[in-house]
Amino acid sequence: MKVLVINCGSSSLKFQLIDSDTEAVLAKGLCERIGIEGSQIVYTPAGSDKITTQTPMPDHNKAVSLVIEALTGPENGVISDLSEIGAVGHRVVHGGEAFSTSVIIDESVKAAIKDCADLAPLHNPANLIGIDACEKLMPGVPQVAVFDTAFHQTMPEKAYLYGLPYEYYEKYRVRRYGFHGTSHSFVSKRCADLMGKDIKDLKIIVCHLGNGASLSAVKNGECVDTSMGLTPLEGIIMGTRSGDIDPAIIQYIAAKENKTLDEMVDILNKKSGVLGLSGGFSSDFRDLEAGYNKGEANCIRAIETYCLRVAKYIGSYAAAMNGVDAICFTAGVGENGPMVRAKICDYLGFMGVELDAEANLVRGDEAVISSGSSKVTVYNLPTNEELAIARETVALV
Ligand code: ADP
Repeated sequence: MKVLVINCGSSSLKFQLIDSDTEAVLAKGLCERIGIEGSQIVYTPAGSDKITTQTPMPDHNKAVSLVIEALTGPENGVISDLSEIGAVGHRVVHGGEAFSTSVIIDESVKAAIKDCADLAPLHNPANLIGIDACEKLMPGVPQVAVFDTAFHQTMPEKAYLYGLPYEYYEKYRVRRYGFHGTSHSFVSKRCADLMGKDIKDLKIIVCHLGNGASLSAVKNGECVDTSMGLTPLEGIIMGTRSGDIDPAIIQYIAAKENKTLDEMVDILNKKSGVLGLSGGFSSDFRDLEAGYNKGEANCIRAIETYCLRVAKYIGSYAAAMNGVDAICFTAGVGENGPMVRAKICDYLGFMGVELDAEANLVRGDEAVISSGSSKVTVYNLPTNEELAIARETVALV
């Protein structure tokens, strides 16, 4: 079956067409600046160069119709007819407590996604617009929602509750939800495959280190803790997000700098993390590593602070699971960052983690990067959220 995977943002739409029998990507692309002047579709059929077309995209309906046109086009199309698409898998960011698995989308599912919009005001409405647009243009084709939060719904109460008055959980469902669940699930399963063991017998820590970043503790195949919370702002230091801070800082800086609450949250989301720590230099680890190697103090400060935070989370998850068999590094920084991986693992010798310096030079490929004598197996393990969404979609339809 051919599955169209859609990841809709407020002004963007990423897509991949995947043949689920071979798991090959037939084509992929991105619609940018939807509803804004200067919109364009970047389309890449497998084995060809990307084709960029600037064209007006007033809304997501137009974007989806352009995706279909590109996929079925006479010159660069990869399918002859729309009817070849057997199902559509949508990435949906927040499923709240309503969804612990992927689901086939119907009206009640759409209503529940809408109910969660309060918790993800930038993402869930955009995801719904994408679902509606696909329903309109591909009537009768089954649509599946795959939630970023679903994998983490197995967390026990003691891991997901905050130390807040319990009534805020009862009234407003204020709790830790976690994100990147599709990636944490994919990577932990792949790790068990590579180890040749049943995931039910393993304790795995997944470090999804991208621009947004989160860790999860996966015990016996179930998530028992994760670093992101009610929103993706909690946890480790990220590209531009602060991760954990003393919440009183918000009031303290707001008073000093005459900022509103909204402005403070914006600073914590967009101007903090390694970008903020490097004095505004960069959120991209390629730039930071280059600066680090030249001895630039702002880059050294950002990378050292980042790595210590990740290492402390790994230590705490080893405690939460009373042990760990494998640690997996994934996503942009995790898959391509020998320096960051080495610095993080340097803290973990006490738990028997020992990297193989040469194996750790790998970028972007699956590899064991720990030494033969390491008590914990450490992997570089590329994530593939689109393939995971396609698999979930096929399993349901
Ligand atoms: P997201 O999906 O959250 O946008 P990604 O998983 O694509 O993030 O990761 C993006 C980040 O990965 C970049 O900001 C950059 O810091 C990092 N990255 C990508 N390639 C490299 C590389 N070759 N070396 C170091 N870091 C890299």
